[in-house]
Amino acid sequence: MTCLDCKKELSYLDHRNAMDTLGVELCSHHKTRIDKLIRLNNTPVEAIQLYYSLKDAGVSPMLEWWDGCKSIDIAISRVKLNIEVDTDYQMMTHEQAMNNLEEAMHSFQNGFTTIRIPHTLIRHYLSETVSSVLGIIAGLKVNIKKVV
Ligand SMILES: [Zn+2]
Repeated sequence: MTCLDCKKELSYLDHRNAMDTLGVELCSHHKTRIDKLIRLNNTPVEAIQLYYSLKDAGVSPMLEWWDGCKSIDIAISRVKLNIEVDTDYQMMTHEQAMNNLEEAMHSFQNGFTTIRIPHTLIRHYLSETVSSVLGIIAGLKVNIKKVV
């Protein structure tokens, strides 16, 4: 068991603490940093799991990236992709849906693509979710080349 961030060897206690709360292997130093990020931004734990899985797949994602208007759960700046992890699909009101649409409009106007992923998908189908995101990144790379 090693920390996904710094590859430091984990003690059993560190492993247990991180797995029980975040579901990812992190040393106490990196767990503290992620805990703080979650407290500040209300980041869903599934966003943390997806972030480390993407990192593991060779992508350079950023957690809680500030786009000038709001904090994005995960941003992949090289292909201008924003990923928002949604936790309240069942209870979505028309105001929230309209907010989502307006956020999508702002990000498209800035050349960014935003995808929204339900947290349950990450929780139950993490590897499939990661391969789809990798496919989206590959597609965006092709389109960026066409423009340039
Ligand atoms: Zn670490």
